[in-house]
Amino acid sequence: MAGNKVLVLGGGFGGVQAAISARAALDSTHEITIVDRNRMPHLCGMNPMLIVGERDADKTGRSLGRLANRGIKFVEANIDSINTADQKVVTSAGTLEYDYLVVALGAGYDWDAVPGARGAYSFYDFDYARHLRRRLSRLKRGKIVIAAAKPPYKCPPAPFETAMIINWWARNKGIRKDLDISVYIPEPGPLGVAGKEASMRVRNALDQRGIELVTAAGVTEVATTGREASFANGSSTYADVIATVPVHKLPNVVAESGIANGKPWVPVDSRTLETTVPNVFAIGDVNVVPSGDFAIPKAGVFAAGQGTKVGEIIASRIMQSGEPEPYDGVGYCYMAYSGGRSAMVGGNFLADGGPDSVLTEPTVSGMKSKDRFERDWRTFKI
Ligand SMILES: Cc1cc2nc3c(=O)[nH]c(=O)nc-3n(C[C@H](O)[C@H](O)[C@H](O)COP(=O)(O)OP(=O)(O)OC[C@H]3O[C@@H](n4cnc5c(N)ncnc54)[C@H](O)[C@@H]3O)c2cc1C
Repeated sequence: MAGNKVLVLGGGFGGVQAAISARAALDSTHEITIVDRNRMPHLCGMNPMLIVGERDADKTGRSLGRLANRGIKFVEANIDSINTADQKVVTSAGTLEYDYLVVALGAGYDWDAVPGARGAYSFYDFDYARHLRRRLSRLKRGKIVIAAAKPPYKCPPAPFETAMIINWWARNKGIRKDLDISVYIPEPGPLGVAGKEASMRVRNALDQRGIELVTAAGVTEVATTGREASFANGSSTYADVIATVPVHKLPNVVAESGIANGKPWVPVDSRTLETTVPNVFAIGDVNVVPSGDFAIPKAGVFAAGQGTKVGEIIASRIMQSGEPEPYDGVGYCYMAYSGGRSAMVGGNFLADGGPDSVLTEPTVSGMKSKDRFERDWRTFKI
């Protein structure tokens, strides 16, 4: 059997697991390559702790170059265009050919969709998170606003988790009584995808901690001073720190490739994660997998699970062995309530009748498990 070329675009949660899973099932006659412009991706999930000084910035990344030890080639390059008709991808390091393509380029951010957001604070990107960390380290009183603009956004629990971690940090620092914390979201309630009960419990958890929650109020503008935000419900507020969740968008290179068929995210077969182009798969934040009235959340655990499945499917096609079980849509994310306790939220998002999910109680062992998840990510186990 001639060697096949499996090309993985993007070395985040999904791309790395797709490559590892395909590599585990295929012998060395088949080539597996990951392309990413960033040799050292950072774990966004550490940002809520990073901004309050509870994680070291230089311990939140992993080097994709280390995948060479596992027989996976890494190319550090920008992906300029994807040509599925010719099975070629043009990158800043040259043109690459493929037999099987995995598009795992994540979600891009449109910082200009909300005027003023580019110059405001955020915890959705590593550089912005470091900037916010410096600001918080100097903050002694005032008001912090966390403001999401529009769904979908990565890790739906992140705005609430971040507000609760800031609350915990402010209490430890002895400044909580001098600090107001507010969360503005565009949705009618928090964490709708996890069901009504989970949503109500998140509301209560915020309420118990004196964190204001304003719903149906996506942020529409941040003043150039960075001190005033306006919202879709017509209200506005002054704050010392305004941190936005940026509007997410399909990366341009994916939109231009045509595999999204003009849709906001790449539609895929929910059983195989294959796009409408044969042998071209799209996994993780870049795709949309319907789940009842919602879609599978944009979270690393789902991207990783989809990557593992796609690696198995590609290997089975190359080896001409039976097609594996379909993708199951199962995944659980962590939601820390403080530096010491974390809950889990997740379940089966492809269950008959819509998402079947739970939110567990925040516990010390949940936090230990979250810490383990972060360590496993750094060593490519996730
Ligand atoms: C604050 C925050 C907290 C989070 N917490 C959690 C959590 O607790 N649990 C969880 O499961 N998820 C969490 N997430 C979500 C998680 O980070 C994403 O869902 C996950 O990274 C998606 O994986 P992916 O493989 O689809 O894309 P990504 O991990 O975004 O990877 C995409 C890769 O493609 C590369 N790329 C993009 N365009 C190009 C191009 N043109 N050329 C070359 N390379 C390119 C990028 O450099 C990137 O490395 C959190 C996110 C945020 C922002």
